[in-house]
Amino acid sequence: EEKPQLFNKEEFLPLDPTQELIFPPELILMSESASPQSLTFQGERMRWVSPSSLQELLQLKTRNPAAPLVMGNTNIGPDIKFKGTVHPLIISPTRVMELFEVTQTPQGVWVGAGCSLSELQSLLEKLLLQSPLEKTELFRALIQQLGNLGSQQIRNVASLGGNIMSAFPNSDLNPVLAAGSCRVSVISNGGRREVPLDQNFFVSFGKTILKPEEILLSVFIPFSRKGEFVRAFRQAPRKESSFSTVTTGMRVFFSEGSRVVQDVSIYYGGMGPTTVSASKTCQAITSRRWDEETLSRAYDILLEELVLPPSAPGGKVEFRRSLTLSFLFKFNLEVLQRLRDMNV
Ligand SMILES: Cc1cc2nc3c(=O)[nH]c(=O)nc-3n(C[C@H](O)[C@H](O)[C@H](O)COP(=O)(O)OP(=O)(O)OC[C@H]3O[C@@H](n4cnc5c(N)ncnc54)[C@H](O)[C@@H]3O)c2cc1C
Repeated sequence: EEKPQLFNKEEFLPLDPTQELIFPPELILMSESASPQSLTFQGERMRWVSPSSLQELLQLKTRNPAAPLVMGNTNIGPDIKFKGTVHPLIISPTRVMELFEVTQTPQGVWVGAGCSLSELQSLLEKLLLQSPLEKTELFRALIQQLGNLGSQQIRNVASLGGNIMSAFPNSDLNPVLAAGSCRVSVISNGGRREVPLDQNFFVSFGKTILKPEEILLSVFIPFSRKGEFVRAFRQAPRKESSFSTVTTGMRVFFSEGSRVVQDVSIYYGGMGPTTVSASKTCQAITSRRWDEETLSRAYDILLEELVLPPSAPGGKVEFRRSLTLSFLFKFNLEVLQRLRDMNV
């Protein structure tokens, strides 16, 4: 039976890419000739300052530690609109080059905190093509999370540093970065320091251990080692454009040619006010063989470790607890498959 024609495709005008609007030449000239200087806009309730160098940014942040850095505005913006938050001063560091630098080392890659999530995704995809598969376990787990995070519009403006510093309990990146032993480089007028992104980094809802005057400069994402597996899982009301109900990053490292676990790291989002580490569960797996006995003990410990009170914000307590368990089960199956593929 022939389907009815709803419209005639033949009548469409062909697309001619050469006839698109031209990029305004005046803007090209402006970007080439204007000497960078600090910009200030004054509104009724708010002052907006855009420093032109890292030096200026650091001075500004030291003098105004409470002023937020606005990168993508996808966290600050909704807070201003829906929670009535007032910021008399905001700092816009989008012209500070150091926040966008990417440096590759033999151990991994430093990614500037200002890079958008789309840029991070393209960078990791590029590195994936250049590197042996076994070194890119963490990159692939991150790419998978990035593919389902927000929407293209959000990912084009939301920054890596903004996602980490928002310290949102449902962040899809933080559990994976933490499980993957990432670390961050932090800068203030007093100098620079490196901080591991681990269970101590996320202090409480929306708070990290960084001091108010400190700025997240870049994030180190390491290559994985031989015998190391990293996976990420998330469950949300919809596949895309939807915050996770529960989200996780999991990493395990095996001794060469054996099933004995040298090191394991499991982080969850959506199970409390911060990204949380299931450290007791990890302890119960470390130095043991990855087998049914070890894992069934781990499931019991996980259920005891990540408890949610019946009145926990967000509700769905039973559902969230079973998700933590089923993610570990999925991870178990994937690890078993990998071990089998490697003939261990
Ligand atoms: C519709 C929508 C859907 C979303 N879906 C998801 C999702 O599925 N999963 C997920 O994980 N997230 C999701 N998000 C959250 C989003 O990823 C974060 O809001 C975003 O990454 C924050 O980055 P930003 O650049 O917009 O931050 P901004 O709003 O510009 O800033 C946020 C905070 O970070 C601080 N900050 C920013 N950069 C630095 C720095 N370099 N040093 C120190 N502090 C800094 C600022 O001071 C501010 O307090 C969603 C957001 C929206 C609006």
